[in-house]
Amino acid sequence: FFLAIEGGDGSGKSTQVEALAEWIRGKGHEVVVTREPGATAIGKRLRSILLDVSSAGISPRAEALLYAADRAEHIDTVVRPALARGAVVISDRYIDSSVAYQGAGRDLAPTEIARISRWATGGLVPHLTVLLDISPEAARERFTDAPDRLESEPAEFHQRVRAGFLTLAAADPSRYLVVDGAQPPEEVTTVVRHRLDRMLPL
Ligand code: C5P
Repeated sequence: FFLAIEGGDGSGKSTQVEALAEWIRGKGHEVVVTREPGATAIGKRLRSILLDVSSAGISPRAEALLYAADRAEHIDTVVRPALARGAVVISDRYIDSSVAYQGAGRDLAPTEIARISRWATGGLVPHLTVLLDISPEAARERFTDAPDRLESEPAEFHQRVRAGFLTLAAADPSRYLVVDGAQPPEEVTTVVRHRLDRMLPL
């Protein structure tokens, strides 16, 4: 079972990934928690290039391809092997992040981003994608560390990213669960658990 958690910066993805992993493990399943970018050795190097403020001004197509390279390595070496042995995989970000950030955010055609992502992953689609939706203003209040390159983007960029995610979710409601990410984390977890209860092999 492949679960992707998506949302803007500060939407609470990592908190939900941990809470859901613990709950699913409690049901006796092997759970692999992973993330994009940066889940593999190659991915960590790509992540540091992508997030370093010195990469400001990177060509949008080069940026899109670096995320796709990270994803290809991630799917081949982490996600597919885990799914093949029957584990539940929870990924903090997946293809929808690229469509929202590199597509809607950077103004590349979302269909083209989706196409390179499909090629990079051999067409692996999550069983469920949870979108933690929150306004960029509310999300920003949660930042604790120094902002990375993307977090330093102007509010309009993050508005476009948010709209990009919502457009994806509206186009495929059976694969998405959109949750209000501004709620307390426990309430977000409860909503997702209800949906998973109906889907997971128990
Ligand atoms: O979620 P996480 O903080 O690990 O993401 C790292 C950074 O990469 C974030 O600032 C996010 O905005 C950015 N990102 C991106 N495009 C993606 C995935 C992540 O710009 N496809």
